[in-house]
Amino acid sequence: MNENALFAPVTDIKGVGTKTAANLGSLGIYSIYDLLFYFPFRYDELQTLPLDQIMDGQKVLLKGIVATEPFLTRFGYKKSRLSFKLRIDHDIVMVNFFNQPWLKNKVEIGKEVAVYGKYNVARQSLSAFKFVAEKENDSGMAPIYPVNKHVKQKKLVGLINFAIDNYLDQVKDIIPAKVREKYRLLTDQEIISKMHHPKNGNEAQLAKRSAIFREFFIFQMQLALLTSQSNEHNTGEAKKYDLKAIAKLTASLPFELSADQKQAVNEIYADLFQKRQMRRLLQGDVGSGKTVVAVYAIFAAITAGYQAALMVPTEILATQHFNKIDQLLRPLGVRVALLTGNTKTLERREIYRELTDGTINVVIGTHALIQKNVIFKNLGLVIIDEQHRFGVGQRQALINKGECPDILAMTATPIPRTLALTVYGEMSVSEIRHLPAGRKPIISSWQTSSQMDSVYRLMREQLAAGFQIYAVTPLISESETLDLKNAEELHQKLSHDFPDQNVVLLHGQMPGPKKDEIMADFAAGEIDILVTTSVIEVGVDVANANMMVIYNADRFGLSQLHQLRGRIGRGQTQSYCVFVADPKTDSGKARMKIIASTNDGFKLAEEDLKMRGEGDLFGKAQSGLPEFRVGNVVNNYQTLVVAQKEAKALVQADPKLTAADHQTLKEILHYKDLEQNRV
Ligand code: ADP
Ligand code: MG
Repeated sequence: MNENALFAPVTDIKGVGTKTAANLGSLGIYSIYDLLFYFPFRYDELQTLPLDQIMDGQKVLLKGIVATEPFLTRFGYKKSRLSFKLRIDHDIVMVNFFNQPWLKNKVEIGKEVAVYGKYNVARQSLSAFKFVAEKENDSGMAPIYPVNKHVKQKKLVGLINFAIDNYLDQVKDIIPAKVREKYRLLTDQEIISKMHHPKNGNEAQLAKRSAIFREFFIFQMQLALLTSQSNEHNTGEAKKYDLKAIAKLTASLPFELSADQKQAVNEIYADLFQKRQMRRLLQGDVGSGKTVVAVYAIFAAITAGYQAALMVPTEILATQHFNKIDQLLRPLGVRVALLTGNTKTLERREIYRELTDGTINVVIGTHALIQKNVIFKNLGLVIIDEQHRFGVGQRQALINKGECPDILAMTATPIPRTLALTVYGEMSVSEIRHLPAGRKPIISSWQTSSQMDSVYRLMREQLAAGFQIYAVTPLISESETLDLKNAEELHQKLSHDFPDQNVVLLHGQMPGPKKDEIMADFAAGEIDILVTTSVIEVGVDVANANMMVIYNADRFGLSQLHQLRGRIGRGQTQSYCVFVADPKTDSGKARMKIIASTNDGFKLAEEDLKMRGEGDLFGKAQSGLPEFRVGNVVNNYQTLVVAQKEAKALVQADPKLTAADHQTLKEILHYKDLEQNRV
């Protein structure tokens, strides 16, 4: 059998062109294999019942014969009702489809159909959602897939079913039989067919259990291989850094390091001085001063004769880090470069060349750093900021550019230590628990939208005193256009309400240079109110901005709110954060109360973890945890631990995966690496 047939791009399917392929790519689906493992997040249970047993308002599947011509009524723009009578044995049910006029062609007198919808007993009518095809009809459970505006549910169902019909028998197991039997897991083929088309809820549950294990197992295999590789090559050299030079850095800082920062630097320096490769995680709340600690690490590596790389998840953050680090290190003779997706071709080529010949000492950038052309002369230190935003494969790609470089990961969202070890592999942990001295705690409050008068009063006060303000709207929908519209509306409103102030909009879809320009203007104090989506989420540092108003705050996760708030409170003056929200649910209200009452990121992270169990869909990127398709790190923690144990055992027994029954696993891992490194 040829595994590669499964890895074939979706364009190999008849009728899938480059446009559909690009759309599927937006869901992370590139190949047939991806289609097979793109699982539903829920099912519509298609229950069939005799008419007299259906309760009012119940959702049911009705099968019958079309008894009348369909009748289409339109009510103005976009609204319509399509009606026909359905004969079920000796009864007649009126079926109404709302706003799906195109279905008219599907309805023919005498045809047998299955329709799913909500039943009205008094009217003996069905408010129909959809026609149900045979495959779903059989199982009684219609899979519902996560989709976006580019890919329609129906289209995806068709493609997935096609993949199942034509390729399922080629799928081989990746989990060794011994492990599978030990935990009574399904085979990969069973997982696929039962996840997509379970016979009942119970079967779906069982399939999901195996699917979660499988997903975690792949992840833990990646981690275990990474760890074992670096242990193997762990002949890394001790970095003999120059303490005299470092004293100059200390002398040039406008402040003294806090006790926590000093300790973190000492821990890192001890690691650098060891032959063993450093693998350290630096946890510290937003604004706690991780960047300076990173600068100490970078500078030490450079004085020892190495290059360093700092990878961050967004362009704005990369630029900001670059400016700050360049300012600190350039006077000490260090060449700092910035490399992002927006770096111009000529400049990029120059950077490539100077990285290879060693002229550049430290490069700061986004995913652009892991591109093939980036070749270092002597990469000795890799720093990854907000590391949960990168896949294991991406981190590894950067690490592989050096010979056993030291690794420092940084995160602003502290997670419990044991959890950190389970999701990031073996790492030492340094923590910055206290903010630098002299900071005034931010005054936070929760206001409803009917209390905007007092919010505006505070805004006017701060503006009059010469301070600047962030106004933030959340990512409300999956649709980027709609989010942009929200931000644009807020921009208009604030421009109108504050006619004497310079109100500027910054959003994620702007080209990079434009964003940089706006951020530079804001940093220079030329913008009074900056209206933004969550593009300013991490790392942005403008000390004169002392107020933030977050609209629809209940739409954000707690950790994300906290991160956003961390943009202010950086100067000597009092800062204010106002959360504007009208939450409808108790948990929404509870979250607003918590965020307004504490500045402790560790505490909020804990609360966030608890609430994530209740399906907090927003701000996932800020949770500090990697995201999985089926599994959830918090809810399925035990499975994660078991998967880790088994993956470690496997790698220990067969570190190169040479055994015959590890070949499929090896192939899949290689495939995953390639996929994660798509830029
Ligand atoms: P983080 O990356 O942890 O969110 P930063 O490194 O951006 O935080 O630091 C936030 C701000 O605090 C920066 O403006 C930085 O210059 C300043 N800062 C860092 N350490 C100290 C310190 N020990 N004393 C005073 N200010 C500090
Ligand atoms: Mg930072």
